[in-house]
Amino acid sequence: MNMTIPGARVIDVRTSLPRHKTLKYGRRKQTDIRSAALHHSATKSGSPEAFAGYHVVKNGWPGIAYHYVIQKDGVIYWCNDLEAISYHVGNSNRHALGICLVGDFRTQQPTAAQIDAANRLIQHLQGQIPSMKQVLGHQEYPGYAWKNCPAFPMGTFRTNYSQFLQKAVGKVDKPQQVPVAISLNGSLLSVTGFLQDGVSMLPVRAVANAAGGKVEWIEQTRDVRVNGEDLNEKLISGSAYAPARELAAALCLQIEWDGPNRIVKLKGV
Ligand SMILES: [Zn+2]
Repeated sequence: MNMTIPGARVIDVRTSLPRHKTLKYGRRKQTDIRSAALHHSATKSGSPEAFAGYHVVKNGWPGIAYHYVIQKDGVIYWCNDLEAISYHVGNSNRHALGICLVGDFRTQQPTAAQIDAANRLIQHLQGQIPSMKQVLGHQEYPGYAWKNCPAFPMGTFRTNYSQFLQKAVGKVDKPQQVPVAISLNGSLLSVTGFLQDGVSMLPVRAVANAAGGKVEWIEQTRDVRVNGEDLNEKLISGSAYAPARELAAALCLQIEWDGPNRIVKLKGV
């Protein structure tokens, strides 16, 4: 299974976590997985190692209860094979995949980084495991209404997750706005442009400043000039973007397009 998730950091700790000497979790097919089960650790801090130690030594379980643990900084720890029927939602274990957010959410809040990582992880998993249609809190599984876990409102979590998905879909639906990187004399700039109908549009001010060009803004005509050259710029939320070739010409820069890596390479002549 591919575990590269755009925008998230995943550390595979499946082989390094404490395990029971003899006991092993039962196995299932990935198509048996129907839901992602969210948990909190119910501890103010913690780590996959600490939880695994507790589950193995104190509880006598085969290994850590969760498939994933998400730390407060948003780093995702991959703890069990998805096929492992680990212990976290009782009778529903066979069909659930356990995701634990570190924290005690009876008194703390999940961090924005944790929620973002959880969204990205669930989106990725749903892409790989189409049968995993539901996202539930531990408390929502049969027999667990009494359990205050994950101790944050699941309705809010799911609303937030659908908004996250809509945004992700929105990005895919606008191929005319594919981001492009920009390098100047071999160093990447911290700003990006975008591809529109096959033309790279670059942020005028940032690129001109980096290249030592002079930018003028003519308020009356809402027009941008670089070194006195008029550009066919486009204003996007207050910033001017101009076709890469025009901007490069105004700045007396050579331009090269690295298609496979989507980099506009600018070079001083
Ligand atoms: Zn739980």
